[in-house]
Amino acid sequence: MRQRVAVVGGGISGLAAAFRLRELAAVRQLPLEVIVLEAGSRVGGALHSILRDGFVIEAGADSLISDKTDALDLAGRLGLEPEIVGTLEAHRRAFVVHRGKLVEIPRGFSLLAPAAIIPILDSELFSLRGKLRMLAEPMVRARRDENDESLAAFIRRRFGAETLDRLVQPLAGGIYVGDPETLSIQACFARFQKMEREHGSLIRALRMIRKKPAGGSGGVRWNLFLSFRDGMATLVHALERSLGESISFGAEVAGITRRDAGWIVTTRNGRAFETDAVICAAPAFAAAKILRETAPALSRALAEIEYASSATVNLAYDAAAAGEIPDGFGVLIPAIERRRLIAISFSSLKFLNRAPSGKILMRAFLGGALNPEIMRLEASAMIDVVREELRDLLGIRAAPLFTHVWRWLDSMPQYKVGHLERVAAIERWAQELPGFALAGAAYRGVGIPDCVRSGNLAAEAIFSGLASEG
Ligand SMILES: Cc1cc2nc3c(=O)[nH]c(=O)nc-3n(C[C@H](O)[C@H](O)[C@H](O)COP(=O)(O)OP(=O)(O)OC[C@H]3O[C@@H](n4cnc5c(N)ncnc54)[C@H](O)[C@@H]3O)c2cc1C
Repeated sequence: MRQRVAVVGGGISGLAAAFRLRELAAVRQLPLEVIVLEAGSRVGGALHSILRDGFVIEAGADSLISDKTDALDLAGRLGLEPEIVGTLEAHRRAFVVHRGKLVEIPRGFSLLAPAAIIPILDSELFSLRGKLRMLAEPMVRARRDENDESLAAFIRRRFGAETLDRLVQPLAGGIYVGDPETLSIQACFARFQKMEREHGSLIRALRMIRKKPAGGSGGVRWNLFLSFRDGMATLVHALERSLGESISFGAEVAGITRRDAGWIVTTRNGRAFETDAVICAAPAFAAAKILRETAPALSRALAEIEYASSATVNLAYDAAAAGEIPDGFGVLIPAIERRRLIAISFSSLKFLNRAPSGKILMRAFLGGALNPEIMRLEASAMIDVVREELRDLLGIRAAPLFTHVWRWLDSMPQYKVGHLERVAAIERWAQELPGFALAGAAYRGVGIPDCVRSGNLAAEAIFSGLASEG
């Protein structure tokens, strides 16, 4: 008998789950119908590219990291390998704002810690005292336990406050749009916590990793950040094409209830779907609402995962009018600089094909947990803020050819201290619901590869349940 699975949410996690279910069903020749119920009028969630006048504009995510391979594998299975593009190596450098001026991020600084000493000593970014404190890290007594702490506490303890304020906060802030005082080191940067535990020092660990010859898979053929020739939505469009009519738009799921051995999935506009299983790949706050009646404890735990909002403002310029822009991928802006942007990306220097010849594309990133008020601005006021900042920081006075403002309300889960414990409890409760699984950015990684992986794992768990019944 044909079985049916509903996937709630058509972001990358839900699409990956639906695609994996169909792959598994094809291999095992199990008659399976997959339906994707998406609240909005498009799929892709935080992946949304706009093609306009020869520009490739990223409203949301602009790249994926290649050393976690789940998204790359998915792209390969969709036949997208020829579309993959790496970053433009000639421009591989980034800047950070220091007392209103741009300073290059020291080479070899790896997200939370330096792997090389000389670039730190040479950098204008830190005071002598700050440099000595940072480089004394191998002498700082290591914590060997696995207890959680905030990113800020971890960095202050290992490297001192200057490293946190000048570099780690803007680097980590750009990813999680979060507050380092509350972000969990364990959930956001487990790799670095493990380095402390196993090597006693992050600097020592990173230097050892550096010395090792390159090998393994995934990271070898590609450089660190990847995209697609026509933008990140290439991945979404390929999934959408493959899933075809299985996707229902405007289908905001309101609740799920148990019926016999399966589920009734109801939408806000009054439709009801009978299914054998459900994968919920909607954000945690939406999953909480959907499960309110059916699983109150699970619903309450899901509702505790907070989200931050952000906005992107893309600006297209005539290269000649904009004048010289810094030669790099972009600029990070520490909160202590008290400016109104989180970061600026020079999109057309980062990836090929982002702007036609003679034009440049850049993107400002605003908002986040440290500056939520800015989200209240109208689009035109947001553009004014961005243009003032670009004038002050980069000297750009020219009017852009066009701009694109995109608001990402409640779109970035905040992995706060204790997050992994909460997720473990959520997963335990979810497992008690037969034929039900969660997927998405809310749980074990916000990056696109993590989301694809969560979709794959949910699909595999649900499929093995159905296959053993069927
Ligand atoms: C501005 C921004 C920039 C980012 N940049 C990067 C980057 O460069 N690289 C990277 O790896 N990651 C990046 N991320 C993170 C990454 O893109 C996201 O974590 C990931 O795309 C989330 O995917 P998701 O499917 O879990 O959730 P979402 O993309 O949020 O999708 C959830 C979907 O569920 C739908 N939905 C909600 N409620 C319901 C309901 N009740 N019923 C039905 N459907 C519902 C929504 O409409 C949405 O389509 C960025 C995120 C943002 C917001």
